[in-house]
Amino acid sequence: MYRYEFMRYPGGLAKAVTFSYDDGSQSDVRLAETLNRYGLKCTFNLLSSRVINEEGLTKDFIRTEILAKGHEIATHGEYHRGLDVARSIEGIRETLNCRLGLEQEFGVIVRGMAFPDRAVNKVRFPTEYARIRPFLEELDIAYARTVGGDNTNFALPDDFLNWVPTAHHKNPELMNYIHAFLTLDLSPSKCYCAARTPRLFYLYGHAHEFDRDGNWELLEEICEKLAGKEDIWYATNMEIYEYIAAYRSLIYSADGVIVYNPTNKTVWFDRDGKCYKIESGETLHID
Ligand SMILES: [Zn+2]
Repeated sequence: MYRYEFMRYPGGLAKAVTFSYDDGSQSDVRLAETLNRYGLKCTFNLLSSRVINEEGLTKDFIRTEILAKGHEIATHGEYHRGLDVARSIEGIRETLNCRLGLEQEFGVIVRGMAFPDRAVNKVRFPTEYARIRPFLEELDIAYARTVGGDNTNFALPDDFLNWVPTAHHKNPELMNYIHAFLTLDLSPSKCYCAARTPRLFYLYGHAHEFDRDGNWELLEEICEKLAGKEDIWYATNMEIYEYIAAYRSLIYSADGVIVYNPTNKTVWFDRDGKCYKIESGETLHID
């Protein structure tokens, strides 16, 4: 019998890095250019009202420098109204209209979200979260990024509609967090068996803050530290969500010996220190 099984990212990796930047301002041009140079992946959270009127980014830029470069676009409300303050029907329109606007403009499915304005958080706003969560589910929102304390354990969310990032780029502890993440060794010989969960470094912010604060060199420093590592998977928020969904869809025999992958993705997992790869449609017999 095995003791523990943990998901591993594509390639059998234990760590991933993702970025999430909001509002679609003109500063996103420099952000996208920088991330593209480093091969980092970002989710750009956009307001459909601004996108349609090209306030901030042009549609052409979103097509060629964001979508075509492998980044994701996600909803951030039609008009950026806080879902905790807006009445439910207004929140529903905010979210649905943003989805419809972005999807119809760019011909892609948009199911990701970052809470606009005041980030609703399950712990800080339990009543509002309980009211909002059902309509996000009904609107087919797959995940929603919130804010709420630093996720210093680099943990993946148990509730994707309450996805707490690692830190904002202005966090004074940021470089310490990056160092802790990069030096984290999850190999069987270095890490206690029950602690070998997959980890995610999730950075968020607004590109216009780099302009306002005059510190674009901070972004360069962050990218330089995080990019180009062989033991890290670089992915958008949705790529991470969809990969985890595939892992969670694996089907097991009662004793765990037989594993079947009904999804369209190749999936990796670690079982007591040994890495397994299971192709789409494959059935694995593990002795
Ligand atoms: Zn915003």
